[in-house]
Amino acid sequence: MSKQKHPILYNFLGSLLAGLILAAILYFVPGVSPWLVRVLRIVWGFVAWRVPVPLGLLFLLVIPIVAIGVILAMVALKPGSLPEFYAYKEDRLFNAVWRWEYGSSGIWDLASFCESCDLRLVYSDARVGFGRNVTKLICERCNRQVYETEGDYEYLKAKVEREIDRRIRTNEYKKSLKRTYD
Ligand SMILES: [Zn+2]
Repeated sequence: MSKQKHPILYNFLGSLLAGLILAAILYFVPGVSPWLVRVLRIVWGFVAWRVPVPLGLLFLLVIPIVAIGVILAMVALKPGSLPEFYAYKEDRLFNAVWRWEYGSSGIWDLASFCESCDLRLVYSDARVGFGRNVTKLICERCNRQVYETEGDYEYLKAKVEREIDRRIRTNEYKKSLKRTYD
């Protein structure tokens, strides 16, 4: 019995001494560099690993370090840094379904689709008079004209972008988002 007891007692006394030395260093040298404190704490925990209390203290030191690491990783990987409206990439405008992406310069890859069959629409912008253009959106599958407006196709795209921009600014897009995912 006594053979088993003595190593535990020595370990305990050893860790107690290490703890006192560490406490003394921390007490008398307040400007001691933080890394030295860290190293001493780890060494202290390592030396005294056989005794339950210092091992528990080592865990108490390790847990906050791991927790801080996990929190930093979660903050870095958090997807919530994107604006909320980035989910808004589809809406019904001017008798067609419009879809787009967001880039560094705003909306891009804007395209229109048929409301009934979802085929990508084709357009024709014909000159109909002196400096006058008319753009038509056509579904080749349904064989119907979906929309017609004054101006060329670039004008129509700019008109759609302005409407998307308006819906984002007025928060009206949230209703469209709800409709899309319901
Ligand atoms: Zn169609």
